[in-house]
This record gives sequence, C-alpha cells and structure tokens, in this order.
Amino acid sequence: MCPWRSPLAKLSLDVVLLILEQCSPFDLAILAASSSALRAALDANPFIWRRAMVGFARGACPAIPPYAASLEETANCSPAAYARYIFGGGKCALCRKPTSSIPYEYLLRLHACSGKCKRGILSRGILFVDREHKYEIHPWGQWLPRLRGTWGRKFVYSSFMIERARHEEQQARDADSGRVLPDDDLPLPFRTTATLSEARAERARSRDALTVNAIALEHWSASYVQEKETVEAANRRFLKARAKEHGLQYHIIMRCPTVACIFTSFNRDLTLITLTVFLQHEQVITNEYQVQAFAVDDTASGTQNVSVPSIAPAQNTSLSHTKTSTLICSHCQDSFTVSSAQETKYGVSSLQKAWRPTSARCMRRSTIRALIANILTGCLRLFLCSIISRQNIAS
Ligand SMILES: [Zn+2]
Ligand SMILES: [Zn+2]
Repeated sequence: MCPWRSPLAKLSLDVVLLILEQCSPFDLAILAASSSALRAALDANPFIWRRAMVGFARGACPAIPPYAASLEETANCSPAAYARYIFGGGKCALCRKPTSSIPYEYLLRLHACSGKCKRGILSRGILFVDREHKYEIHPWGQWLPRLRGTWGRKFVYSSFMIERARHEEQQARDADSGRVLPDDDLPLPFRTTATLSEARAERARSRDALTVNAIALEHWSASYVQEKETVEAANRRFLKARAKEHGLQYHIIMRCPTVACIFTSFNRDLTLITLTVFLQHEQVITNEYQVQAFAVDDTASGTQNVSVPSIAPAQNTSLSHTKTSTLICSHCQDSFTVSSAQETKYGVSSLQKAWRPTSARCMRRSTIRALIANILTGCLRLFLCSIISRQNIAS
C-alpha cells in the first residue's frame, strides 16, 4: 500500500519533494510530525530543510542561522526540533499563558506573552543572577545554560532550569533506590544517577555551541520581528481591502477562524497573503462570517447595533453589513489593553492579536494549544491542496 495518504497518495515522490520545497521551516516541522512517510521523505532529503532555512530570508530578515552540526549528536537537535524551537511558541515564563511568539530568550528557553511579562521576567525571580559565583564551582555550573550578565562578570541562569536540575537529581536518587520505576508517570525522563550524569556530560559538551547559536538567533530575531511588522501591516491592509470589496466588516472578518489562521501563518512565515489564497477560502470565510456576525449580535445586548445576515449558508454567499459592534473578550481585554503601536513594541503574538477582538468567548483561555495545532494543520492542508491542484493543472 502506498504510504502517502490522499491527496499526496496520487503524487510521485518528486512532486511531493517539489511541494515540500515550497514550505516554510515550521510547515515542514508540522508535516514531519503529522506523517511518518513525510518525515522519512524529509530525513532522506535534508537539502529541503537547508533550502527552507536559507529561503526564509526576505526583506529585512536574513536566513535563519544554522546550528552547529555537533548539536545533532550532543543535544538531540534536528531541523524539525529547531523549527519548532524558533516558531513553535511555548508557555509564557511569567504567567504560563500559551504564546505563539518566537522565544524572548533562546538559550534559557524563555517565552513572553506580552511586554508586561517581558518586564516581569527581568524583575520577578525568573532569572537567577549568580552574584556569589555559586555555580562556577558547583557541578551544575558545568552544564547549566547561562548568559553573561551585562553588569560585572556575573552569569545569569534560569531559575526554572535550576529547579528542574534539583528535581531530576531527586528523581534519579529515587530511581536508584527503586522508589520510581521506568513505567511510572514521571514529570521528567526516567534516569538513574549514572544515566543522569551521562546526560549532563552531553549537556556540558553542547553548551558552547548552543550559546553561539542562541546569540545568532537573538540577532536574527531583531530583523525577523522588524520584517514581520511590515508583512503584518501589509496583510492587514490586504484583508481590509478584501473586506471592503465584499461589503464585510473588517473586525468581524478578522474573527473568522480561517482568516485568523491565514493571517497568523502568513505573518509568521513573512509571506504576503495573495488574492488566490483569499479566493480559495472565500466560501469558508463567508460561512464563518455569518456565525461571527451572529455572535456579535448575540452579545451586543441592545447597546450595539448589528445587522444580522439571514442564515442560509448554502445560498447566501454575498453578505452585506452596514454596522458592527466592537466587543472585546473580557479576558483578553484584561491582558492586552494596549494601543496597536504598543502591541508591536511588546511583540504581542499575531495569533493573540487575531483572536483578541473575539467577543463572546475567550478563545485563548481554554484549549489554545489544540486550537493552534488544528488551525496550522488545516491551513497547511489547504495550502498543499492548492499546490497539488496547480501541479495537476500544469501537468
Ligand atoms: Zn505572560
Ligand atoms: Zn479571550
């Protein structure tokens, strides 16, 4: 049986490779995670990864800096893991809210969901400044990732990583004495004291290369963020124009999950949304728009005035609204009552921005992780389908 599932099942490996070559590094990481056949194709053709990393350069943003080859040995690094590390988001180091933004600090693996949290990370115990040079003689100091502080010759560590080191040592002692077993549901990988010291020796060997890579990524990020702002503004203008053209309200259209997905993914990959992409999703967006406009009306509670489209999704393809409300989710309002200029400065993730105007319910509070995964996979599938259909037409 052919390992490729439809629509990829109909394609030869050459065509699949051509499609993969068009993907961004994060797209490739998602694809590699979604199918073993695609992962095998990517593993067998590492040039696709290299091309995606180098091809990411556009406008003010240079190519994604490569990591040292030695890290594949010593730090379990792979192109997919690297793409997820840069673009995969994570939990805010301060408030633990999930965020899709690139890391705030690469080496210490810190994410920040807002400007407020960035400032909090610097002041609220997330970082450990080793004023007494404690870890320079401590065995953990051999491998714990550390930044050179800007003041004096002190090193800065992640308090979370220090805490984790303590836990893994305790767990290894418990493993030695048989109090925990390999099959137990453990918060950290199962290791005995002996295997833990091996793992730590590996970490010590990889630390310098990781530090060099993190510094390169910090420099790259500055240009990436700058270019992303430009792309995001252009995509916003594009969607405003489409909304106007279709007689739709821009604020409501931005609440449609498909639009939010396209907006987030294209901004992340520094790609302009094209008319073809929009037209391809037009029907879905139209249907989602009806739901969103209805939700706005539902929560408007008399003070807002929204014209409700007649709900006949099958036939009603051209919607027209003259008024709208600008309701904001109470949860998100709490978190992001900043001007758009500030949002850019604070680096609020585009996904959060896209969801922020969502009125009735808080989309972020519950299962944002599952949501992001669904959205990205769905978007990618549509993107691949479009390429495939183009390929079919061409051939
Ligand atoms: Zn936060
Ligand atoms: Zn919300």
